[in-house]
Amino acid sequence: MSEIKKSLNFLEQIIEEDLSKGLEKSALKFRFPPEPNGYLHIGHAASICLNFGLGLKYDAPVNLRFDDTNPEKEEQEYVDAIKKDIEWLGFKWADVLFSSDYFQQLYDWAVILIKQGNAYVDDQTSEQIAQQKGTPTLDGTNSPFRERSVEENLEIFEKMKNGNFDEGTHVLRAKIDMSSSNMLMRDPVMYRILKRAHHRTGEDWKIYPMYDWTHGESDYIEQISHSLCTLEFKHHRELYDWFLDRVYDQNKLRPKQREFARRNLSYTVMSKRKLLELVQDGYVKGWDDPRMPTISGLRRRGYTPSSIRDFSETAGIAKRDNVTDIALLEFHIRTELNKIAPRVMAVLNPVKLVITNYPEGKEELLAAENNPEDEEAGFITLPFSRELFIEKEDFREVANKKFFRLKLGKEVRLKNAYIIQANSVIKDDNGEVIEIHCTYDPDSKSGSGTEASMRKVKGTIHWVSIQHALEAEVRLYDRLFTDEAPDSHKDKNFKEFINPDSLNVIEKAYVEPSLATAAVADNVQFQRLGYFNVDPDSTDDKLVFNRTVALRDSWAKMEQKK
Ligand code: ATP
Ligand code: MG
Repeated sequence: MSEIKKSLNFLEQIIEEDLSKGLEKSALKFRFPPEPNGYLHIGHAASICLNFGLGLKYDAPVNLRFDDTNPEKEEQEYVDAIKKDIEWLGFKWADVLFSSDYFQQLYDWAVILIKQGNAYVDDQTSEQIAQQKGTPTLDGTNSPFRERSVEENLEIFEKMKNGNFDEGTHVLRAKIDMSSSNMLMRDPVMYRILKRAHHRTGEDWKIYPMYDWTHGESDYIEQISHSLCTLEFKHHRELYDWFLDRVYDQNKLRPKQREFARRNLSYTVMSKRKLLELVQDGYVKGWDDPRMPTISGLRRRGYTPSSIRDFSETAGIAKRDNVTDIALLEFHIRTELNKIAPRVMAVLNPVKLVITNYPEGKEELLAAENNPEDEEAGFITLPFSRELFIEKEDFREVANKKFFRLKLGKEVRLKNAYIIQANSVIKDDNGEVIEIHCTYDPDSKSGSGTEASMRKVKGTIHWVSIQHALEAEVRLYDRLFTDEAPDSHKDKNFKEFINPDSLNVIEKAYVEPSLATAAVADNVQFQRLGYFNVDPDSTDDKLVFNRTVALRDSWAKMEQKK
């Protein structure tokens, strides 16, 4: 994974500076801290590639820490999915840890804060507490419970823990400064009562710690040297440091929080909450629907781990918020599949073509180059016969000079096969062409070296032999949203921008017989149509393909035309 180590981003500069000031290289340690409340998306991949990339660069451990302090939304299913995605991306964590493992330690420290006079139990409702918060320009008001005695605080806090009170009746707050210019410092809540079963600690706890109290202390327990998070936590850094100061032991390493910009991608949304809505409301078939920007969706769509790592590297780590063009992601998978995907033929919208001068009953095996970009890929054999399917779009009875495909009286080359000329058609009652009659030039076989085979004809089209072809289902995807930034509109819900045509299922397409041995997840190029992979919905009787990406960026062209 040397490609991850290339450029020095601003976070690496911070680390280098710390090392130059005396931090031991052996003390470097990082973490990736997902909340198990959904599947990972391509934004998380930025953070994963960053943290695990630093681990590789500095030969330092990287923990996978599940930030599981919110039992209402967290599930084991998500824990398993997150692990699978990180491993699939090609990274290895040092330890798998859970914030919930630290509930007791966090509780013990909270007791210390109470004893220090740095925390108190507030009996007010959350509305009352919110009212007293003030505004950035108006100081807050102290809670009437702020000066409660240490003894009383300890007693009530323990009862909160033991489940003696109802939800919403008490919270534990840090006693900091109700007139701080940083609103987060105005006596933030550390614990709330929540009588919900937790996916790991079950019924043990009736109170749960808040993010700010948990995150920094967890970093400290694990001795994380650099806790890298996204920009929205910048204002939290002051609180992160304040909490650390209350428990910090001089002999230990003191973690440092630093922030970088979130990865945003055009034409999609990237919050687990919103992605969950798409799943629950049935806009997509699941978290791994190939239209989703999730790691599992991209995997199912045919993306490779290296294409996602390369994308993350190219898109880089920024200091300020920005939007990355989804075309960059598509560029990376297209470039990679061009090198590795075998070339095969498939016809998605078939019309029958009969070669009238080709002997009935005759079959021959033609050689087809597996991948012109990869000499070692070699050749496969391709059965040819009198009756073929070609794409309807590749034939017109009459057409202008720019139509380089098949038209009456003109020639094209059948890819890897012969030059044919169209002579006549048979139509149905509606006037639609149902059969094209052609003749072929027997001396024009591709690669045969004859003069006829070297003859230049303008167009080359793909085909399959009807009697040999396999039936397949092909799923074509378009962008899930029609808007570049669906969740940026103040007056509109992001779901109003869902593309109604994001999925086009072709139930009966035909693919060449070499694909009989294709396995789930295999990537191929359907000549002239794009890159496809085998979907897990495939059965022994019927293959199902997803289009990963088209051969060219048709969107960029459309945008230019606008
Ligand atoms: P979401 O809103 O999608 O739920 P989150 O930040 O709440 O995102 P977490 O599970 O808390 O999700 O994130 C785990 C780590 O991944 C955090 O360090 C977070 O900062 C980082 N992360 C999440 N989303 C992005 C993103 N779009 N770009 C870069 N890093 C991200
Ligand atoms: Mg979160």
